[in-house]
This record gives sequence, structure tokens and C-alpha cells, in this order.
Amino acid sequence: METAEIIKKLRDNGFKITKIRKSIINHLTNCKSPVSVKELLNELKILGTKANKSTIYREMKFLKDNSYIVETQFEDRKKRFEISSDHHHHLVCEICGRIQKAKDCLVSKIEKRIKANQGFLVKKHRLEFFGVCSICQH
Ligand SMILES: [Zn+2]
Ligand SMILES: [Zn+2]
Ligand SMILES: [Zn+2]
Repeated sequence: METAEIIKKLRDNGFKITKIRKSIINHLTNCKSPVSVKELLNELKILGTKANKSTIYREMKFLKDNSYIVETQFEDRKKRFEISSDHHHHLVCEICGRIQKAKDCLVSKIEKRIKANQGFLVKKHRLEFFGVCSICQH
């Protein structure tokens, strides 16, 4: 989703569009990979937008609670945020730290098997992959 689209949705739902809110959404849409609060703070500083940690946390909670963004907890215990989109997993490079989207999710097959074999209905799953990206392999 584009920034303008999200801003419109916020406005349609009667939410305020603050400068910080707009900057966060803008950064997340441009980034294309999950962003931590620390990275966001740095970005806002570069843009000259005054924001402290607690403001950002409050803002992220608001955007998360209203399903504009999703939060993923990675192995380094850092939470990262991205714009809500299609279901996907992440490939985390342990050398350069780059996070990419995994092309597909085959877990639904496993979920069907779990239901068939154990009667357990899976509602969601979490799965991130850690390794070495194609650039770092050279
Ligand atoms: Zn890499
Ligand atoms: Zn993602
Ligand atoms: Zn999946």
C-alpha cells in the first residue's frame, strides 16, 4: 500500500494525521522491510522531525492496534514493524542484517496435516529464516 492510500484510510476512519504519523508511514512504505523503533528514530532525526522514544512507541501501538502495521519479533529480540500486507515470512541475513520477504509460504500444507492428524486447528503461525543472503555468499 502507498502512503497516500494509508493516509486516506486513516482520515476516513476519523484519525488525525500528525506530522510524526505521516513520517512513520512514509518511512515504512519506502523501506520495504521491517523497521525497528531505533531505526525510525534515526530516520525522523534526519528528517528534522522532533520525536522521542515514548511518542514513537505510542504511535506504533496505535498503528498496530488499528491494523495499519504489523509487528514481528526477530531472534535478536528486536521488534520490527512494517505496513500490513499479504501474509509472508522473512529471510534475515546474519552477515549484513538485510531482511527480505520470502517469496512463498508453504506452511498451509503443514497446517492441513496437523488438522488431519491431530485435530488441531491452526489459526496462525510465525516463521523467520536466518542465514546468508545471496550477496554475502560471494
Ligand atoms: Zn547479507
Ligand atoms: Zn515483511
Ligand atoms: Zn506463512
